[in-house]
Amino acid sequence: MKILKQQDITRFIAVKFSNHNCECCGQRDWQVAGEENIDAKGTAGHIDLIGFRHGGLIANDISKAITLGVCVVACLNCGNLKLLGRQIVANWVDQNPA
Ligand SMILES: [Zn+2]
Repeated sequence: MKILKQQDITRFIAVKFSNHNCECCGQRDWQVAGEENIDAKGTAGHIDLIGFRHGGLIANDISKAITLGVCVVACLNCGNLKLLGRQIVANWVDQNPA
């Protein structure tokens, strides 16, 4: 799995969100969320959401869980969060190297 760095996602946001105002507050001030988790190499990137396929939800049975990699983007004005498909961001980074 390609390691995404904060600057990769920041470049993605700059291109893809440049004309996108926050649907909650109308501002246009997006930033990669969760920066407190960025390590010294600037690796940020993504989190894994845990979920269950239809009918697979069994309380406390984490072995039934699947994960979905997402990048989290926040509106700095109101805190609205967006989840971006990690693989799509990674593909864009591959096609648009810094
Ligand atoms: Zn907002």
